[in-house]
Amino acid sequence: MQTFFVDVILPLHIHGTYTYRVPQEYNDSVRVGQRVVVQFGSRRLYSALVRRIHEEVPKYRVKYILSILDKQPIVTEKQFLFWEWLADYYMSYVGDVMAIALPSAFRLASESSVTIHPDYSGELSDLTDNELRVVQLLSEHNVMTVEDISRAIGLQKMMPLLNTMIEREIIVMDEDLHQRFKPRTTTYVSLSPLYHEEDEARALFDQLEKKKTTQKQVDVLMRFMQMSQFGKEPVPRRLLLDSNGDSPLSESAFKTLVRNGVLEQFDKEESFIAQDEADTVSPDSITLNAQQQEAFGYLSTCDKPVALLHGVTSSGKTEVYIKLIHEVVKQGKQVLFLLPEIALTAQIINRLRKYFGKTVGVYHSRFSASQRAEVWTHTSAADPAQRYQVLLGARSALFLPFADLGLVIVDEEHDTSYKQYDPAPRYHGRDSAIYLAHLWQARTVLGSATPSLESYFNAQQGKYGLATMTKRYGGLQMPEVLCADMKEETARVRRERGTASARSTHFSQFLLNHITEALDNKEQVILFQNRRGFSLRIECDDCHWVPQCQHCDVSLVYHKATNSMRCHYCGYSIPVPSECPACHSHHLTMKGVGTERIEDDLSILFPKARVARMDLDSTLQRNRYLEILNDFQERRIDILVGTQMVTKGLDFDNVSVVGIVSADNLIYFPDFRAFERAFQQMTQVSGRAGRHGHQGKVIIQTYNPYHQAIRNVIDNDYAAMYDSQITERRVFRYPPYYRLIELTLKHRDQEVLNDAAGILARDLREVFATRVIGPEYPSVSRVRGLYIKTILLRFERTEAIGQAKHITLDICDRLKADKHFASLQIHFDVDPQ
Ligand code: ADP
Ligand code: ZN
Ligand code: ZN
Repeated sequence: MQTFFVDVILPLHIHGTYTYRVPQEYNDSVRVGQRVVVQFGSRRLYSALVRRIHEEVPKYRVKYILSILDKQPIVTEKQFLFWEWLADYYMSYVGDVMAIALPSAFRLASESSVTIHPDYSGELSDLTDNELRVVQLLSEHNVMTVEDISRAIGLQKMMPLLNTMIEREIIVMDEDLHQRFKPRTTTYVSLSPLYHEEDEARALFDQLEKKKTTQKQVDVLMRFMQMSQFGKEPVPRRLLLDSNGDSPLSESAFKTLVRNGVLEQFDKEESFIAQDEADTVSPDSITLNAQQQEAFGYLSTCDKPVALLHGVTSSGKTEVYIKLIHEVVKQGKQVLFLLPEIALTAQIINRLRKYFGKTVGVYHSRFSASQRAEVWTHTSAADPAQRYQVLLGARSALFLPFADLGLVIVDEEHDTSYKQYDPAPRYHGRDSAIYLAHLWQARTVLGSATPSLESYFNAQQGKYGLATMTKRYGGLQMPEVLCADMKEETARVRRERGTASARSTHFSQFLLNHITEALDNKEQVILFQNRRGFSLRIECDDCHWVPQCQHCDVSLVYHKATNSMRCHYCGYSIPVPSECPACHSHHLTMKGVGTERIEDDLSILFPKARVARMDLDSTLQRNRYLEILNDFQERRIDILVGTQMVTKGLDFDNVSVVGIVSADNLIYFPDFRAFERAFQQMTQVSGRAGRHGHQGKVIIQTYNPYHQAIRNVIDNDYAAMYDSQITERRVFRYPPYYRLIELTLKHRDQEVLNDAAGILARDLREVFATRVIGPEYPSVSRVRGLYIKTILLRFERTEAIGQAKHITLDICDRLKADKHFASLQIHFDVDPQ
């Protein structure tokens, strides 16, 4: 008998793979890419992935694998290669990648908690004895860890059993349950088929009208008939019963009609999506205009693996993508369509489904385990007819088990949301996508109205292909961008009032006039302010005291809705102080304006307008953003105030004015990318103005109307922005000419941190000399009670830095081996954004 060993990847922040021995009984069934249950540490059990099977007897005694969870491999060789590249490039471990790449249902471990699946029917007859015992235990205890269940039942091989139960949706991992994504539903009312014939309906009315007691039912039916085009179309229940100025309908009469089977109710998923296979349209029906045709022709034949599509907002990039997708899907290959944030994708899903119907799979980190597992299975199916052809998602969709990838599209490639900040691996979705496509010999298309300097640079250097679309689709004009000079505005207010009143100068008269005009014309307005909360801080007029977070080195932000001062880094909050604790002065002034304040002021200035706010605070509730977008789309909101969220690729057809409340916040941000980002954000939000119909207006409020970034936005001159910035990057040695790696050190004790940072910088300098910058305190130098210092490594573009990363990791490991620094945290951020 042969003896086999496997090297497995554990979903943990540890280096490399671990070797286990294969029990003889599994010799024939073990495969690379399967999950196996192994013991790691003294007691813990994990699902680990088989990376390699071999017969090399290890020098030390190794444990046996306990069982095999999957019949078929769930991870392919290409996925492993992708994970390994990602771990290596971003200076993290393959285990870190596994932990974020696999749907959590695949990561069963002894500490995982499970509970009964909420949709489980309770049917016990087809359970095995052991399954029955698990169900009984869980119905008593509600939530239990795998370890607790094993102990209670005493079954050694518990994980395979639980795994099957998860697959059969009898139980669910508790973590998934909390993340369950329930699509919002709307209740519709329809007419029972019994009354679809006119005669039947008439008879019903006659019968009801005879009696006085059923008059109210007649009212309900009448309204329903009007709204439903005589029973032809279902009517949302809310709209039916909403009095909307008319006399209100009786809810109990409505209920009686339902009980008597005249009206029927049903729930339907509410979203922008409502497409059926039958409704799909062939992409051949799209006629591209000349500039789209040219871009499409170029992109589909370009001999470079990566190409950039630089098209102004509303130039019709999506139609070009659809044509490109069609070409690839026709060959039976798959397409990955990446977006910066899944939250804002409803519109694009809709547009893709229109052409590709059910072959579009959406991968959503908020989906339930079973939904994610479903997408996973239908991505890897060997039979092209059984699998998704177009996969749409945010960066986590990179980890899907593609069967045959032919094209990757990265839309809004400049967006910072592509970067994962925490936890490791801190990877960039766009850059990783390019590597993934390379593994498949697939083409990558990056698209943006405001490309990142990096991508545009690569295009200029001839490394990427470049297609440009300078005009909006359908002859629509670019919006007119105007400045409101806040210096003049402040002076004017002072003149008129004779005081230095700060109040209401967040809005220039110029912007107010435009808002008024838009509202009068029944058009909509978007206002962009990149700070949330009410006022950014409170300050004592006498001693300049500002309330600070106890755990972080930042000031607290005033939130009116909760009447509290909150830390945006750790969530710490205090009640609003009524006097200054330092000097007991009562003169506390609010400084700076957040979205909440803007919303508040608008409701005073425009009492009749319907104002809504879209920022992290207002959208924490799941699906709230969809409601807001839907309401805005349906024109139930007149003015939408928001942070970055409102700048992203949304397509509204009735927005005539976009206001950027304070452009100076964007420009004067202490970061080498501030200029580029300010240009991108202002241009993107401007693109929301005047989409269908007539030219829109953008009002930029600023104290610096002649600032170059603002001038570039006004002239819609990406090239000028690029030229000025690329020169600065070269002169000051920043990307794309140089590559950066940022090391972040954290420790509870400031002195220990300082020591560690000093030693680390010294050791790094010995190897990398002047490429080492720092250590320095970052602008926020303490978060959640941990002090922070950073060290920056800067390499020339032409230097091979693979080796440098390994040396750096070694130096850090050596430092951490010193027990004085045992609790020091070191994070690596390659290509920090
Ligand atoms: P972008 O993504 O470049 O900002 P969109 O793809 O959203 O622009 O296009 C703007 C609008 O023009 C959309 O409503 C889109 O449906 C329409 N459009 C663009 N190209 C075409 C085309 N070839 N045929 C019909 N409509 C088009
Ligand atoms: Zn004071
Ligand atoms: Zn804090």
